[in-house]
Amino acid sequence: MKQVFIGLGSNIGERLENLRAAVQHLAALPETKVMKVSGVYESEPLGFTEQENFFNAVCELETALQPEDLFLRLKQIEHLMGRPEQYERWHPRVIDLDILLYGSRIVETPMLTVPHAEMHDRKFVLVPLSELADPVHPKFQKPVSQLLGETSDTSMLTRRQILNIDGTNGRNT
Ligand code: ADP
Ligand code: MG
Repeated sequence: MKQVFIGLGSNIGERLENLRAAVQHLAALPETKVMKVSGVYESEPLGFTEQENFFNAVCELETALQPEDLFLRLKQIEHLMGRPEQYERWHPRVIDLDILLYGSRIVETPMLTVPHAEMHDRKFVLVPLSELADPVHPKFQKPVSQLLGETSDTSMLTRRQILNIDGTNGRNT
């Protein structure tokens, strides 16, 4: 079983419910356990800014699924939850599921880059991730806490404390 961190984002509809549903889908994957879920953070959209703020969270999994298999299953969950096959980059989405870290593996294929290529530039990834653990980024050889200290991302991030989700037991804490 590998320790994997998944980044979740939503900026359409019931954003918190979308995150919660996505965690339930992750928990239902074969050979996979949801270990921890971060608090929910609200962030301003990147790029195309005329859209709703994002709700973001990070989920820690233990999984025996290989990275490519896990990636395809994340895409299935996105489609199941109503994300169209074709969409414009940076535009609103019901749910976005990214593999941030897969143990200490480095994957570089046309479909998949792990660690996620932009995670060190995104506070909405680094902040919730550092709530859960402080794994070393295998490419930069730096812990997430250090990446957070060094990130160039100056955007606003608000922790929505009351909106904690916990997919491990379905409770709304
Ligand atoms: P973003 O997540 O950067 O906002 P998208 O969700 O639109 O953008 O992803 C665009 C493409 O990124 C996906 O089709 C996928 O092939 C690729 N990708 C590369 N590495 C990863 C990863 N680690 N996790 C998820 N998608 C990835
Ligand atoms: Mg994505």
